[in-house]
Amino acid sequence: MAMIKCSTCGRMVSDKEKTCPNCGGQTDTRIYCPRCNSTNIKVQVKSADDVTASLIAIYFGIFAAKAAQKNRIKYVCNDCKKKFKLK
Ligand SMILES: [Zn+2]
Ligand SMILES: [Zn+2]
Repeated sequence: MAMIKCSTCGRMVSDKEKTCPNCGGQTDTRIYCPRCNSTNIKVQVKSADDVTASLIAIYFGIFAAKAAQKNRIKYVCNDCKKKFKLK
């Protein structure tokens, strides 16, 4: 479950909520950069999962490979170039 910011009152609410429990307004579904707070975010989805995972498995072990498969979607901030994932 992720927490998102209400676009009306700025309070952090669950992304499961369609409206804010605090003010009743629409919740903000935009993705924020954790470093610079920009909403100019590019989504990256790994396409060669199996190849990448097996390469990671060779270099870092099977646990790292499993973790990488679980987090296939990455976000890249267009402003500060920070790469991050949502929990
Ligand atoms: Zn609100
Ligand atoms: Zn940023």
